Amino acid sequence: LVSREHHPERSVVDVAGVPIGPDNFTVIAGPCAVESAEQTAAAAELAMRAGATLLRGGAYKPRTSPYAFQGLGERGLRILAEVRAETGLPIVTEVVDADDVDVVAEHADMLQIGTRNMQNFALLQAAGAVGKPVLLKRGMNATIEEWLLAAEYIAQRGNLNIVLCERGIRTFEKATRNTLDISAVPVAQYLSHLPVIIDPSHSGGRRELVLPLSRAAVVAGADGVIVDVHPAPETAKCDGPQALVGADTDELADSMARLAEFM
Ligand code: PEP
Repeated sequence: LVSREHHPERSVVDVAGVPIGPDNFTVIAGPCAVESAEQTAAAAELAMRAGATLLRGGAYKPRTSPYAFQGLGERGLRILAEVRAETGLPIVTEVVDADDVDVVAEHADMLQIGTRNMQNFALLQAAGAVGKPVLLKRGMNATIEEWLLAAEYIAQRGNLNIVLCERGIRTFEKATRNTLDISAVPVAQYLSHLPVIIDPSHSGGRRELVLPLSRAAVVAGADGVIVDVHPAPETAKCDGPQALVGADTDELADSMARLAEFM
């Protein structure tokens, strides 16, 4: 269902009126985690400065350590909905458990499936059935074929509104958090009609890599980027070192707009 054999034309996915797909380079930005109403509102301001038309933010956080901040859960979803009402930015947020799909879908405009859950087949099926667009991150240990088969689980439930997100894979390299597989962009677009975006924040793991990796995404033909921003990354409860701050966001907006002219 997600292959180009089945559907030769590349698809555009509509997220509450925001298109993601060919001819629509989309910036999604926001805090890694929703920490408070104030922090999320301030991050949404930064997201808009970065040129974002969709707001990201995790209310349920799939952390490697059980001792790390796990997210605000439903309270976080309500904060996101309030910030959407104030800013008009539709919301992309992660769901980590099949039992939470309904409550997340009640508040979110797009459901995110994270790298650690790419092969959580019950979650994929539940997300596919609920009728909201899905952002499917590539598993950090998954091949492109496995990633597309994961998308197939969602599509089989009657939902073809899926955006693929390359977010870095595990390699021997330790200089970055994960290795951004930029070749996954054209390969996935060649094999599948679904839009493909990249996450320069979770792949690079450091704010100074976000701009160069985002530029690489545009030039490789990606359909967008999803970027972490935070008003005070030194106090962030999650992934502060990779969040863009202040003037970084202007630079991202400017750079994406200028590069888009050449594409
Ligand atoms: C995220 O985007 O908040 C996240 C946890 O990303 P990933 O699943 O790619 O690690």
